[in-house]
Amino acid sequence: MNVACLDLEGVLTPEIWIAFAEHTGIDRLRDTTRDEPDYHVLMRQRLRLLLENGYGLADVQQVIGRLEPLPGALDFLRWLRERFQTIIVSDTFYEFAMPLMRQLEYPTLLCHRLEVDAQGAITGYRLRQKDAKREVVRGFQALNYRVIAAGDSYNDTDMLAQADIGFFFNPPANLISEFPQFPVLREFDELSDAFAASAWDFDGPN
Ligand SMILES: [Mg+2]
Repeated sequence: MNVACLDLEGVLTPEIWIAFAEHTGIDRLRDTTRDEPDYHVLMRQRLRLLLENGYGLADVQQVIGRLEPLPGALDFLRWLRERFQTIIVSDTFYEFAMPLMRQLEYPTLLCHRLEVDAQGAITGYRLRQKDAKREVVRGFQALNYRVIAAGDSYNDTDMLAQADIGFFFNPPANLISEFPQFPVLREFDELSDAFAASAWDFDGPN
């Protein structure tokens, strides 16, 4: 049995923080795990910038509410969910992701939570667990599932390495040279072909 684990931002949806950076003009909010591999350093920087500029959760949610999934993402996800138990594994937060999950027809999402004070300021974040993406894959493997995973960024590489098969989907050039072991796919057609081919390996005749 196969489980598909998919990253969210950069694979199915735009990067939430980049969208908010464009909306506010705060350039440093454009940094993602593509630029800063240390997630905690990146998050502390993001929350400090929000606080310094007076933006709270509602402001970020308003911008996210206007985002749409990437072209072709919903069709790909529908295709995948008909053939695989599909889990979205993200380092975003439920408070941010829900408007996008609605547009993606509410697949299962495993991610983190924000801490928000009474005034609506984002004061911190609670990661569900350490190495959350890799632990999701390990968890399903412990349940005797084969895991096929796809992601685009630094924060996906542990998940892709732990998975039985891992694919890069539209990663930046530096990741391709740093992690040459993961096949690089560019279009949803290629990604669905890759998932189909991987499933055949696992679910072929006994
Ligand atoms: Mg991503």
